Amino acid sequence: MLAGKVPVGSAVPPRNTAASGSKGSKVLVVNAGSSSIKFKIFTAETLSPGAAGLFDRIGDTANCVLKASVPEDGGKPKKFEKKIPAKDHLTAMQDIMSFIDENVSSTFASEVCAVGHRIVHGLDISQPKLLTPDVISCIQDASVFAPLHNPPHLQGIYAAQKVFGPSVPQVAVFDTAFHQTMPPESYVYGLPYDMYENHKIRRYGFHGTSHKYLVEQAAAMLGKDVSQTNVITCHLGNGSSVAAVRGGQCVDTSMGMTPLEGLLMGTRCGDIDPAVVLYIQNQLGLSATETDTLLNKKSGLLGLTGSNDLRTVIEGAGKGEARSQLGLDMFVRRVRKYIGAYMAVLDGQVDAVVFSAGIGENSALVRGLICERMQALGISVDKDANAAAVGGKQADISGPGARIRTLVIPTDEELSIAQQTLQLVRGAALAA
Ligand code: ADP
Repeated sequence: MLAGKVPVGSAVPPRNTAASGSKGSKVLVVNAGSSSIKFKIFTAETLSPGAAGLFDRIGDTANCVLKASVPEDGGKPKKFEKKIPAKDHLTAMQDIMSFIDENVSSTFASEVCAVGHRIVHGLDISQPKLLTPDVISCIQDASVFAPLHNPPHLQGIYAAQKVFGPSVPQVAVFDTAFHQTMPPESYVYGLPYDMYENHKIRRYGFHGTSHKYLVEQAAAMLGKDVSQTNVITCHLGNGSSVAAVRGGQCVDTSMGMTPLEGLLMGTRCGDIDPAVVLYIQNQLGLSATETDTLLNKKSGLLGLTGSNDLRTVIEGAGKGEARSQLGLDMFVRRVRKYIGAYMAVLDGQVDAVVFSAGIGENSALVRGLICERMQALGISVDKDANAAAVGGKQADISGPGARIRTLVIPTDEELSIAQQTLQLVRGAALAA
């Protein structure tokens, strides 16, 4: 079992053997982007992590680079960085396998019992799915809502299918899936109903793999069954979202049809009056593509302060820069608004507020600002415990007597993908 993490108990039989777990079997988690493939290997039996890496700048053959880290018994992980001219995702995947073959284990390819793919948008799919032609076609359909993510995910899937062949099951784990339990009053927009029925325009929510993982970890920390756990999970990174969870199931979340809605983010504006978009296009003459770039890539902390990195914003605010102070205040205000709103959505029956991701796991300052003057809502934070909870530590930072716990939980989306992949593959093997 991994220290401090929930026991998983979902070991998977090795390839072609439905009977028992094997020390040799591995699960490979793949997150394919437009010019990158992130990968992480887990041992199926214990879900302990092995080598991990990033193949970056795929297609730019002069500059593409494979960076990897391989754990060493009792020592620091060994780091690798190598320029390899990969022209596409298939070549990059083959290169990753050769790298593992040379530096990790020459039997690795034959030990892979399952591959789990991170997929950003899965429309209304609510569970991880074995990659069948129907599922691939759904990922293609969802590309209209995630044009920057789903097409490269498909490249990663095709590459892995070629490399491992049909005998290794591959699973799609969707960022949207956890939010499928939202009721219609959370996910339908106030538009003509036809927009939802005929055009699938609705709120889907994202970061679902992270929110699901945080709920499971929070339940373990609280000593409760997941099905009895009510929490507000705050995934605060460059992309940020909040989820309201009742009885372990998502009932509302801040991101919408795309990840643009909700909190103020590194480069995304979050919630905005839609009339602003019309004004930008009609009065300022920006095209649809230019408006998309403005809202998704040039807004948020970047647009307000000149930096999308909250550390730089905090530094600027500390030096008295007014715009940085405004960016920090707006970021905090928006998270507080969502926590307040979700307290109401959950009828005040909240066990814990959970902080995670780059900002949530590392910034005691931001956590403190978000939670200050919330005693009337039952939330308070212990100053020392908050200050100590940095650098990827799981911690309960609640103040003495607080009715609602405040937890810091490092997220681990890859582990969750490995876990969900193995559960599905094992279930399919038993059913066969
Ligand atoms: P993503 O996965 O969405 O790219 P991360 O979860 O890695 O993002 O989070 C990145 C964000 O975390 C950046 O805005 C960075 O400034 C912020 N961050 C990391 N460490 C700290 C810190 N100590 N204080 C404040 N912000 C931090």
